[in-house]
Amino acid sequence: MLYADVIIDISAAELDRTFQYAVPEQMRTRVTIGAPVEIPFGKGNLARKGYIVGLSEIPQIAPDKIKPINGVCERGLAIEDSMVELAYWMKENYGGTLNDALHTVIPVKAAVEKKEKREVAASAEAGELRKAYEEAARKHFSAKARLLGQLMEQPTIPYEVVSQKMHCTAATVRSLEHAGLLTIQERSREFRMGDGHRMQLNAEQTEASRQIIEALGTHETFLLFGITGSGKTEVYLRAIEKVLERGEQAIVLIPEIALTYQTVMRFYRCFGDRVAFMHSRLSKGERYQISRRAQKGEISVMIGPRSALFTPFPKLGLIVVDEEHENSYKSEGVPRYHARETAVKRGSMAQAVVVLGSATPSMESYERAQSGEYRLLQLTERAGAAGLPRAEIVDMRKEFANRNRSVFSRVLREKIEQRLADKEQIMLFLNRRGYAGFVSCRSCGEAIMCPHCDVSLTSHKDGSLQCHYCGYRIAMPKTCPSCGSPYIGSFGTGTQRIEELVEKEFPQAKVLRMDADTTRARDGYEKILNAFNDKKADILIGTQMIVKGHDFGGVTLVGVLAADMSLLESDYRSAERTFQLLAQAAGRAGRAEKPGEVIIQTYQPEHYAIQAAARQDMPGFFAEEAAFRKLMKYPPAGNMLVVLGSGADEMLLDAELKKLAEDAKQLIPEPVYLGPSAASLRKANDLYRRVIYVKSPDYTVLISVKNRMEQKILAGEAGKGCRIQFDFNPMNFY
Ligand code: ADP
Ligand code: ZN
Ligand code: ZN
Repeated sequence: MLYADVIIDISAAELDRTFQYAVPEQMRTRVTIGAPVEIPFGKGNLARKGYIVGLSEIPQIAPDKIKPINGVCERGLAIEDSMVELAYWMKENYGGTLNDALHTVIPVKAAVEKKEKREVAASAEAGELRKAYEEAARKHFSAKARLLGQLMEQPTIPYEVVSQKMHCTAATVRSLEHAGLLTIQERSREFRMGDGHRMQLNAEQTEASRQIIEALGTHETFLLFGITGSGKTEVYLRAIEKVLERGEQAIVLIPEIALTYQTVMRFYRCFGDRVAFMHSRLSKGERYQISRRAQKGEISVMIGPRSALFTPFPKLGLIVVDEEHENSYKSEGVPRYHARETAVKRGSMAQAVVVLGSATPSMESYERAQSGEYRLLQLTERAGAAGLPRAEIVDMRKEFANRNRSVFSRVLREKIEQRLADKEQIMLFLNRRGYAGFVSCRSCGEAIMCPHCDVSLTSHKDGSLQCHYCGYRIAMPKTCPSCGSPYIGSFGTGTQRIEELVEKEFPQAKVLRMDADTTRARDGYEKILNAFNDKKADILIGTQMIVKGHDFGGVTLVGVLAADMSLLESDYRSAERTFQLLAQAAGRAGRAEKPGEVIIQTYQPEHYAIQAAARQDMPGFFAEEAAFRKLMKYPPAGNMLVVLGSGADEMLLDAELKKLAEDAKQLIPEPVYLGPSAASLRKANDLYRRVIYVKSPDYTVLISVKNRMEQKILAGEAGKGCRIQFDFNPMNFY
């Protein structure tokens, strides 16, 4: 007899709470995991709908006590059906259990405390507002100016946008209230549409939105490849407007870091109360409530990072994935799904149009656009007045040969001085992931390592040494733990170091720094962005965070320090990442009327990623990179599955992984199996990490390898005492 585990309530916190039912013989061929079924439930045997999450031959209670399924339902149009189907697809394609996938896709029912809904409303004439705005701007009351400036364009703004996104304190709002410029009121319950002031689209934008709008009602995927500042967002807005006219809904995915108040207000102005925003700090209850509102039709546009993709809209018409190349679209938890690929899947299930937008498309999407699988739309010019910046590559080896030992090349130093004199803004981008320098011994060369992880500790300004994997922290030792030498010191040029150098070399400059340290506080990121936007500093120094999709009108010079640093990360995507970062960084210069300049300092001036980025030449970069991927059979030319095992006993872990690999090889011999071998981060949190790489041109072959391994683990025949995870086409190196 076959038995099915059925869940009745998919939004219950405990999805493991399943009930076993017998599968009558005549239904055997129709039951699959994820299928909706009707079952008799409770004392009265009332018919209820549930979903099959597991199948087995083993009864959990006395077989005569197990009731049979009434019937297998046709997959209906109900949104729950399609979300369960999507969860099943994710489990198959990315690994993990159906439970993991359901928890990702379906928000858990949870209570949410009632929040009063307030809004700030302009209560003065336009002329009066403008006068107050100009005065606030003149006196550098930037929070006031920000709020008044927005109120001039949008007469009401939700209070939480004002406080959280615009960083206006209650005192600021109150003082404007006392001045009679605004009132704070109960948010009106009646539905309100934004008044969305219209921008005249240019020819390319018009053509792009025309093609997208024509496709609405069917499933098609577009790649909107538009250079930085070309006005992609305007194209999205136009398409969403049409979607709403058709009585359908839209989802816009954007990286969380780009969800600034400028972005929020842009959508809010167009779509008013029909738009909602999701972010990672929402509580379970808030997320559940937002989903319910979407399902009931109270909102029609959802904007947010990865998880916004699972908004249960009943008639989804459009999914936009902005900055589609961003690594943050790949989940780091199980299932390790890619939100871009999952968006395309959801779009095909819902007959919705999918638009992937980027100035530096991923290799995957660009390839699909080349092959015709996606339709390519291009915006080749900057919208408005701005032109593309001029880029110059500086060979740092020559600087060194000419006795310049500074981190600033001569040309960059001159240009910084000139910008400071002209009161224009500068961004200095340190192309380096993460943190301040590690500490090592000048006598023996040993770095000071974390005792629990296979990484070196990094020094912090407070004098401590810390591990960024496990949080281990010690005071900076006075002597080397390996040889006792007193000559130990901090190396590597982190952003802190650059900041010190800038302060020394350009003492007249006001400097802001943005990195993992300065943005740790809640909203630290936006505070720094706002301060720089308000011209409270001349120079913004930062890591990758400063290049991601933010407009600064006043920046006319971007300096890239150590452009090749990201090339040294030894995984197959490092050239792609380098190209994207440099091209995006260059795009930050000269967004307003004044033309911009970019100085790219590098030790590898001839590298194609750097050359192509300086020319903003995506096709050129793609051609070179695609040839390399093809040669090595790396994605997108082939597919790769990483099996990551971790465990306290390295020998045991190795043996268990070998068992898995051997078994899979016997059954499914086509793919190339590499390993098991030590992960590049060999140990984290006292657990050893080993990996098997499996490569095949065919993704479905890799799925069967994963399924086979999952079976073996479930049956207790391999992987004992270890944790095994799967990652398809990984974004980074293990
Ligand atoms: P992207 O998303 O491609 O980087 P945005 O949509 O943010 O570009 O547009 C960049 C800037 O150009 C914004 O300030 C926007 O208001 C402006 N802009 C966009 N389209 C037009 C247009 N057709 N005419 C004038 N300005 C425009
Ligand atoms: Zn030493
Ligand atoms: Zn550690």
